[in-house]
Amino acid sequence: MESADVANDLTEVLLTEQQIRDRIAAMCREIERDYEGRDLLLIGVLKGAVMVMADLARELKRDVEMDWMAVSSYGAGTQSSGVVRIVKDLDTDLAGRHVLIVEDIVDSGLTLSWLRSNLQSRGPASVEICALLRKPEAAKIEIDARYVGFEIPNAFVVGYGLDYAERYRNLRDVSVLAPHVYA
Ligand code: 5GP
Repeated sequence: MESADVANDLTEVLLTEQQIRDRIAAMCREIERDYEGRDLLLIGVLKGAVMVMADLARELKRDVEMDWMAVSSYGAGTQSSGVVRIVKDLDTDLAGRHVLIVEDIVDSGLTLSWLRSNLQSRGPASVEICALLRKPEAAKIEIDARYVGFEIPNAFVVGYGLDYAERYRNLRDVSVLAPHVYA
């Protein structure tokens, strides 16, 4: 669906489908250059990264493998605690592999920094991060994402995989959720 289809629930379209597509294509050209001559394993974090993974993987003009993890963050509320439980682990052995974690958004960065060190401990050749969106909070923690699509303001966004209570994941664009929806 498009933002117009649920216009009453949104305050603003932040990124259009076309903007996302163009930015992903540019990131793919960087990734192709950086990983030339090396194997590449993309690891998507369920469920938010489904759209970016699907579009990124198909835009790449080279062969990649894809695997998925599901994690859940302990702790109450909407704030990430940084204590993470693996709900679904990888099927792939990471030993000697070049790993690129594909994420929807970096907010506090706590989830990703836990994930990166967890994957690092499995003996890969390298672990890098690709995130479509990054919020200002992310600057506080040393989360070194090699590829970032867009820096966005500190608002709660939905669409392109990102949900509120499992809704709005199938929005084609990224929009700001209206406060009356979660108030
Ligand atoms: P972090 O550990 O970086 O604080 O948490 C990142 C996770 O929080 C993301 O993977 C995402 O699930 C969720 N998150 C952070 N900001 C937003 C947002 O603006 N909208 C949505 N839908 N989820 C968010």
